[in-house]
Amino acid sequence: MFSKTSSHPSAAITIIILLLAISLSLSFSACKRGGGENGGSGGAGESGSSGGSSDSDPGDGGGAGTDTPGGAGDSADPEALWYYEEERAERYAAFAQIRPDLTMEDVVWMVDCDLDLPPYEDTHEVPDPNSLTLLVNKHFGLPQDYVPADLISVGSAQMRSESAAALNALISDAEGQGLGIWAQSGFRAYGIQQSLYNNYAATDGQAAADTYSARPGFSEHQTGLTVDLNDITDAFGQRPEGIWVKEHAWEYGFIIRYTEENQSITLYVREPWHLRYIGREHAEAMRDLGFTSFEEYWAKYIKHAPSAVG
Ligand SMILES: [Zn+2]
Repeated sequence: MFSKTSSHPSAAITIIILLLAISLSLSFSACKRGGGENGGSGGAGESGSSGGSSDSDPGDGGGAGTDTPGGAGDSADPEALWYYEEERAERYAAFAQIRPDLTMEDVVWMVDCDLDLPPYEDTHEVPDPNSLTLLVNKHFGLPQDYVPADLISVGSAQMRSESAAALNALISDAEGQGLGIWAQSGFRAYGIQQSLYNNYAATDGQAAADTYSARPGFSEHQTGLTVDLNDITDAFGQRPEGIWVKEHAWEYGFIIRYTEENQSITLYVREPWHLRYIGREHAEAMRDLGFTSFEEYWAKYIKHAPSAVG
């Protein structure tokens, strides 16, 4: 880039001095934004889009409370975020250092749901396995003996009653559009998931198996709120049935849990056939907020509530 000025040493020196001055002032403002703790990371606190978050686009209606308090773009003060947890302050700072690509807002919600930890390390058991909005992933698991008490059949699968009713409505409405949707796999007990996972790991190796199969105790299928549709293939996502499901699942309280967009959060490959029931109100809110991962919604609106901050 200096080739043009190399024949004029004084001009080159001027440019170098200018660049130095600019970089000094940039790192100074980064210090201010980061509260001094991550000044060295060069812009960790800068606003802007980042993987998985669409905060700057809260959508309509349901997104009314999104930016409170402090307002969007005010990522300079993470303590003002309603989902900021005082006791995690050190983890926020440490995670911001190693992920300078993230906004502070993203750093905070991700640490809130333990995404700063390696998968399957220091895991927690969910406090209430019967909650319809529980988070089950590679950090939060279910008790080994957990079996929902209200399982009912949907085709050859089993689901908890509320989610089964919602799925039946979805199937019936799709049928009205000439689309055939069926439940291939619903509730799976711990032992079943264990055999599935062990078989995959024996065939493909553990690292590969972890990208598409949950370890026993960490499968959403054990919640009874999850269903795999039709032939469980990636091609399902491109077929009219899969496209219809992607567009309408929220109306019945379902989300597509593993997508291309949230892969870096869930650490699973996309599964256009895997639906998770969270209830209509939450599915609609997630859609309005433009959130791509349930993890983000859970950290901001289930674990914490915006109104909790005065
Ligand atoms: Zn599934």
